[in-house]
Amino acid sequence: MTRLSDIGERGAIEILARIYDRGQPIGLGHDCGAVEWGDDYLVVTTDVVNQKTHVPPGAAPTQIGWYATAVNLSDIAAAGARPLGFVTALSLPADTDVEFLRGLAQGMEDCVREFDIAVLGGDTKESPVLSIAGTAFGRVRKDRILLRTGAKPGDVIVVTGEIGRAGHAARLLEGNRALRSEALDQLLRPYPRIAEGMFLSESGAVTSCIDLSDGLGVSVAQLAAMTHLSYQIDFDALPLYRGLKDLPPAAAKDLALYYGGDYELLATVRPEAVGVLLERWSGAGRGQKLTVIGKVAASGGNVLVTKTGREPLLAKGWEHFRSSVIR
Ligand SMILES: [Mg+2]
Repeated sequence: MTRLSDIGERGAIEILARIYDRGQPIGLGHDCGAVEWGDDYLVVTTDVVNQKTHVPPGAAPTQIGWYATAVNLSDIAAAGARPLGFVTALSLPADTDVEFLRGLAQGMEDCVREFDIAVLGGDTKESPVLSIAGTAFGRVRKDRILLRTGAKPGDVIVVTGEIGRAGHAARLLEGNRALRSEALDQLLRPYPRIAEGMFLSESGAVTSCIDLSDGLGVSVAQLAAMTHLSYQIDFDALPLYRGLKDLPPAAAKDLALYYGGDYELLATVRPEAVGVLLERWSGAGRGQKLTVIGKVAASGGNVLVTKTGREPLLAKGWEHFRSSVIR
């Protein structure tokens, strides 16, 4: 018998993809699935959050509710879509404190409200362990949907916001008790880059996009697996979260590249359109930065360019069913 722990999450996805690969206007493997809707796509994504892998001890129910919602909306953002609604299926132990349920629901409500949508319904079931499944819907013009495929050699790689905030928070949670609630907030209150995704989509300059749920190394590997291109990241250009500077450089680098949980958007941009895109971005007065961090090449694997040379950018990071290298 081969177990899931032998093949890992990505092996499991390969099995599923072979069975489900039909009826998809955009193919499988993107941040969202899509359904034809006139000139638009209805995009759909689902993500489950469970106690063992996602909820650090001490997390408040409102934080868990926000998180379970935000991770789904982040996929809607990566498709460049406008969110339409959210549904959730809650599996809860019978001895769950009613106040926990109230907090969980409030956290979800806070998040959907932030993005002008509502929780449209769901399901509630008894289960031995806490598990929260969320499903988000969105809408985007067919010719403006952002997919993981579409990049060409010569495209420029950009990223929103900062990298390493979640990794830094996770590291704090292992140590300093005083900073615990702040770190939990940084880890569990990612802010889906909905406005940024729609901006990137509407620019017409973006050739592909992914959200950094699993870390830069893994995300770039996922892009390369679909496009067979080489993604070359300039380490010194990365907009690192400032807290990483207090850590030993090797640890900071590992957290920035291989931890994940930042839920920023990484996109590829047509080289001739980058200048105008960056200008419009700053002109729009966005709170988040948009930073050029590398380029796409035809071949050569995924590469991290540093002061001292070039090294492979690894696909390591969090993977379910297997123990992780970092977490
Ligand atoms: Mg995603």
